[in-house]
Amino acid sequence: MRVGFGFDVHQLKEGREFWLGGVLIPAEKGILGHSDADVLLHAISDAILGALALGDIGIHFPDTSSDNKGLDSTIILKKSIDLAREKGYKLGNLDSTVVCEKPKIMPHALAMRTRIAEICEVDLSDISIKATTNEKLGFIGREEGIVAHAVVMMVKA
Ligand SMILES: [Zn+2]
Repeated sequence: MRVGFGFDVHQLKEGREFWLGGVLIPAEKGILGHSDADVLLHAISDAILGALALGDIGIHFPDTSSDNKGLDSTIILKKSIDLAREKGYKLGNLDSTVVCEKPKIMPHALAMRTRIAEICEVDLSDISIKATTNEKLGFIGREEGIVAHAVVMMVKA
């Protein structure tokens, strides 16, 4: 078994869509980034790549490449799973936490878990998503940004 950790942060901006965990969530501010800026899928993908010492998503999907502009982050997750499979590993289980003030994340957790389980080809019970606010502190508290943390256990396929 191998363990991996991922972290990501993005700015929140008006006029952008709020894609999280592969699901479009209604929100006043969206998430800013070169791709669709799905901060949760980025943290999860980094955790998968990290578990197998395959670098990070910046190496595999450079934000300097115009090919990756507006990229659907489910493609990044799928590619990370494919790279792990080439190394002989599959996802065992995933735990994650999203930190933001608004919108409320947990009402969308089941939809996100379902989408991620489908992409990673695992059971829903292997995918955990939690959410917390930052108690109005710092850049997250001021609704300027959103953070995601993820931990994965990769097991021999
Ligand atoms: Zn990101």
